[in-house]
Amino acid sequence: MSAPAYKRVLLKLSGEVLMGNQQFGIDPEFVGELAKEVKEAKDTGLEICLVIGGGNIFRGMAGAAKGMDRAQADYMGMLATVMNALAMQNALEQLGVPTRVQSAIEMDKVCEPVIRRRAERHLEKGRVVIFAAGVGAPYFTTDSGAALRAAEMQCDALFKGTSVDGVYDSDPKTNSSAKRYETVDYDTVLADNLKVMDASAVALCRDNAIPIVVFSIREQGNLAKVLRGEGTQTIVRKG
Ligand code: UDP
Repeated sequence: MSAPAYKRVLLKLSGEVLMGNQQFGIDPEFVGELAKEVKEAKDTGLEICLVIGGGNIFRGMAGAAKGMDRAQADYMGMLATVMNALAMQNALEQLGVPTRVQSAIEMDKVCEPVIRRRAERHLEKGRVVIFAAGVGAPYFTTDSGAALRAAEMQCDALFKGTSVDGVYDSDPKTNSSAKRYETVDYDTVLADNLKVMDASAVALCRDNAIPIVVFSIREQGNLAKVLRGEGTQTIVRKG
């Protein structure tokens, strides 16, 4: 396979990959390992936008299921993504990678607000930009935040790093004969309700022709491989 020519990418990491082998929270050692992967990718000359989820700390749906007001719980989830963004910024900067955090919920003591032109400038200067707090509104997820930032920053692709190595026709954890797709189109993902990202995120990528590359971030060195067009992955794109 010839290497895809990506110039600017958005990398979405679910919050759970920051907890390493813990059940909850942030494992700084593991965040450091992830930061190394990001640095390796950046050292190839790529411009990198990052979006990190918050599921390792708090998910709005889980709060709502226990009787909380959904919007209130979602705001707590958004705050969790800011903590993760700061943890990743710290890890990247310890490796000498200049990084800026921009949050969709303004928090000027700890990070910048989301300003597209400013983010552009950061990327031009070789900084990694971490977009925190999703879209800044409840009833959304960081997947939608990732799709939105990928569209407005005109990224060539959205890379979704998870604990599974691609998109399967059924859940590989419960069905041993589940088949992994090499490529699959947006409409199949939506119609078959395949577990990639939530539907609004997939639709936003479809409408803006942004390919979604699903891969496992748990395998060391895999991000760089996948960015070269190698390694195990599923690409969601127009069929
Ligand atoms: N969230 C939200 N709006 C957004 C992004 C996130 O309300 O635009 C809240 C929502 O409660 C979500 C939580 O933040 O459950 C954490 O984000 P997410 O579940 O996407 O994290 P991940 O699953 O990627 O770790």
